[in-house]
Amino acid sequence: MSKINVPIYDPKPEVEALRDEIEAAIKRVVDSGRFILGPEVEAFEEEVADYLGVKHAVGLNSGTDALIIGLRALGVGPGDEVITTPFTFFATAEAISLVGAKPVFVDIDPRTFNIDPALIPAAITERTKAIVPVHLYGQAADMDPILAIAKKHGLEVLEDTAQAFGGEYKGKKLGTIGDAGAFSFFPTKNLGGFGDGGLLATNNNGVAEMARMLRAHGAKKKYQNQLLGYNSRLDALQAALLRVKLRHIDEFNEARRRIAAFYTQHLTGLDGITPPYEAPYAKHVYHQYTVRISDGRRDELAHGLAQKGIGTMIYYPIPVHQLPYYNLPPETAQQTAKAANEVLSLPMGPYITADILRSVVDGLLANILYESN
Ligand SMILES: *Cc1c(COP(=O)(O)O)cnc(C)c1O
Repeated sequence: MSKINVPIYDPKPEVEALRDEIEAAIKRVVDSGRFILGPEVEAFEEEVADYLGVKHAVGLNSGTDALIIGLRALGVGPGDEVITTPFTFFATAEAISLVGAKPVFVDIDPRTFNIDPALIPAAITERTKAIVPVHLYGQAADMDPILAIAKKHGLEVLEDTAQAFGGEYKGKKLGTIGDAGAFSFFPTKNLGGFGDGGLLATNNNGVAEMARMLRAHGAKKKYQNQLLGYNSRLDALQAALLRVKLRHIDEFNEARRRIAAFYTQHLTGLDGITPPYEAPYAKHVYHQYTVRISDGRRDELAHGLAQKGIGTMIYYPIPVHQLPYYNLPPETAQQTAKAANEVLSLPMGPYITADILRSVVDGLLANILYESN
């Protein structure tokens, strides 16, 4: 097979497809002279709130800030414990630690890679204040049992929706099911901007008001600072560009689902590779298409694909609980430790062509079938 060049995610085809709209948005912002917050951000917030079917959307600087500000707006602080998954990006736990609380890691359901609700009750103590489920790879965590546990114990629920804009749980948009949802617009996310950006969604007026204060140095009115906040305002340019992409997000997510279906069709029933499981309650938006490779052959396979010019990634090679900052033993979350050794994400994005898809599948088949043992 000849060498090709397929990155795991290529932002360029989206830009090409939307170039006129993108350039018009840039020009509008440049000509407006309003570069931070302002009408462009307000319009984006309204359109996101509308799309998600939620009362408030607060534009922020990043997904990490959306988690930090979301936690603080929900009243999480020093001395509290927050239950979350260790199979996520560091920022989920980092945000919990940065507000002075302690992340308590609960293992995943090995089929969905998301927090296993059945394991949450045993992790609850009198200090537990909140649960932060992550909708990993674009698939919903199992929210109903999580909400039932939260209700029973009086806990807040902040959904880390950084990877799942437009994804659904039982027909409800992710990030609107718990008390608040944190979103990221990092360029590689399924709704990606052209720089850093984030957003907090909530139906709670008090939480929204607090988030708006916290993003602007704890001031409701300029120069009337009431608390220690952050400089975490969304840029007008990001908002204008995200408004363009938001108009196409359903098409993009549908394209991702079609690509996932193609992969799954061709990778089902093969030894040593397990395609992703789509839970019946979830509309998966495939921020990542992630397979499991068993028998310790994952790294070898990734290497074989790289030699053919096919990009893959491991999200995440080291579970958060085992990262140097937390340094907990692997057994804290055994399914997570196992998944970290087996997962491999394949090229994904709304504009992958049929030819490219075919060559990725061929590359996988060649490596799996002919290079074993
Ligand atoms: C990307 C990501 C974040 C952080 O978002 P940033 O915008 O990069 O700060 C948080 N949680 C998860 C699960 C993510 O994938």
